[in-house]
Amino acid sequence: MARPTRAVINFDALRHNLAVARQAAPASRLMAVIKANAYGHGLERVAQALPGAQGFGVACLEEAMVIREAGINRPVTLLEGVFEADELLVASQENLTLTLHQPWQLEALAAVSLPQPVAVWLKVDTGMHRLGFEPEEVAACLQRLAAMPQVARVGLMSHLACADDRQDARNAAQIARFASLAAGLPNPKTLANSGGLLGWPDSHYDWVRPGLMLYGVSPYPDTHVGTLGLKPVMTLRTELIAVHKYPAGAEIGYGAAWRCPEPMRVGVAAVGYGDGYPRHAVNGTPVLVRGQSARLIGRVSMDMISLDLRGLPEARVGDEVVLWGNGLPVEQVARSAGTIAYELLCNVAPRVRIQQTGQAMGGQDGTELANVGC
Ligand SMILES: *Cc1c(COP(=O)(O)O)cnc(C)c1O
Repeated sequence: MARPTRAVINFDALRHNLAVARQAAPASRLMAVIKANAYGHGLERVAQALPGAQGFGVACLEEAMVIREAGINRPVTLLEGVFEADELLVASQENLTLTLHQPWQLEALAAVSLPQPVAVWLKVDTGMHRLGFEPEEVAACLQRLAAMPQVARVGLMSHLACADDRQDARNAAQIARFASLAAGLPNPKTLANSGGLLGWPDSHYDWVRPGLMLYGVSPYPDTHVGTLGLKPVMTLRTELIAVHKYPAGAEIGYGAAWRCPEPMRVGVAAVGYGDGYPRHAVNGTPVLVRGQSARLIGRVSMDMISLDLRGLPEARVGDEVVLWGNGLPVEQVARSAGTIAYELLCNVAPRVRIQQTGQAMGGQDGTELANVGC
């Protein structure tokens, strides 16, 4: 029997979450952010499964090419633009939308001759202080771009730094800064990620750019994903490959990091940090065994974890173990591992087989596919 570790991708949930996003921002177009292999869900699969997205956002040319090679011709934005001038030619040939955030990118565009003009987003720093031109530089940049035959149209883009906290006053400040820049400009505008989309209608503008929420993860640490009407898309699952009964005092796993306080049953599940399960998950990190709560004990190994099976007298070898997803939000596991859901999803390793459920274009129910990185 093959190793039972799988990432089950539920395309019905994906489309449901897209509908939630569209409902929350009905007047905006939707750029589905599918960078980093669609947050670990499979870039091509996710792009194919989202005919309702009017465009896509990716981190690099290679990711954009996966979409184009899949025969999808909708707008694709390179969220950080090109990394070297040589990429401009391909971007133009493939009708990709550039982000411009550094002067050299403007200069490179001004200096190149392109087969067809490109659409660009001018990235403005409204307070995050990561990428973008200063608000005071925007007028001059727009003027410059308007004079370039290489440029088809120019939009304004910014990004929220604290959108995961609806109480944070920095959001209103960034939104106000963007609004004052945007006032009177006819250019298309985009500001909101998932947190902005669900939290601040005045951040919606012409295009919203949800990533995380499409995968069924709450963008707010204080809000359960179900409260937002979102459904987890990825369920990381495996099975119990061993069940033992140990006496009180038995020490479990590497470093003898956990000691049985009483005679008890301990299960071993076939998943570890080699699959992307976080090595820093602490004792007590929740898992589901046969759909019931159980807890991680001891250190996470490369290929295995140990589980406290007290309270689960029925558990036996072959039982399903869910690490996150259906019934166990990945956010909760992330908290136990001192990280965020984004990282856990992106880190699912190529050796984990992908299994699709729900209606997906280009695949049948239950079809197994090799994972593809980007
Ligand atoms: C990743 C990213 C997004 C999506 O953010 P989520 O928090 O996942 O919704 C939107 N815009 C930009 C520029 C990004 O880099």
